Amino acid sequence: MTGRTHDLAAFTSLAAIVSVSQPNALSLSTVLLSLLANQIGGVFPDIDQPTAPLWRNLPIGNIFGKAFGRVAGGHRFITHSILGVILFGIAFKSLLGFLGPILGHSDSGFIWWAFMIGLVSHLIMDCFTKEGIPLLLPLPWHFGVPPLKALRITTGKKLEQFMVFPLLFVLCGAVFAQQHRVFLSLLHSIR
Ligand SMILES: [Zn+2]
Repeated sequence: MTGRTHDLAAFTSLAAIVSVSQPNALSLSTVLLSLLANQIGGVFPDIDQPTAPLWRNLPIGNIFGKAFGRVAGGHRFITHSILGVILFGIAFKSLLGFLGPILGHSDSGFIWWAFMIGLVSHLIMDCFTKEGIPLLLPLPWHFGVPPLKALRITTGKKLEQFMVFPLLFVLCGAVFAQQHRVFLSLLHSIR
């Protein structure tokens, strides 16, 4: 899937989970950092390719991207597996712990969850593509939905642009319309 589809999928997943979990009052910094972490998590598994947004926005990021891709075993390898999710989860938790003193009153637990929701949404969306993902690494099988490869989506093609993205958009709108009271009370409770 393309970056913008992953962005929307990450945001929709976060909104859906927030709407059912109905968290307590959040600080403004928690909300903003959670949205940022969620969006980063939503595209993070693709850092195994030099064209990833993270590398594109860094000076000589292309070189880092290539090097990281090699270490990670190439595109759609460890970063697109349960093992990768666990490793990224531990790494991000450590980063939040390290940044603790400058995060102030931000709820690092909530920010971590927002990142993880984005991360998992990426893997779920990539399951629908022709390549599938090696979910159970080190077992080598690539998983996809539906199991028949011919019925899956080709990244960046018309089906993604004109069906998957608009469907996600409608789903996102439906979550906000359905649960608008939850989001309004959450907005009012921002400290
Ligand atoms: Zn991916």
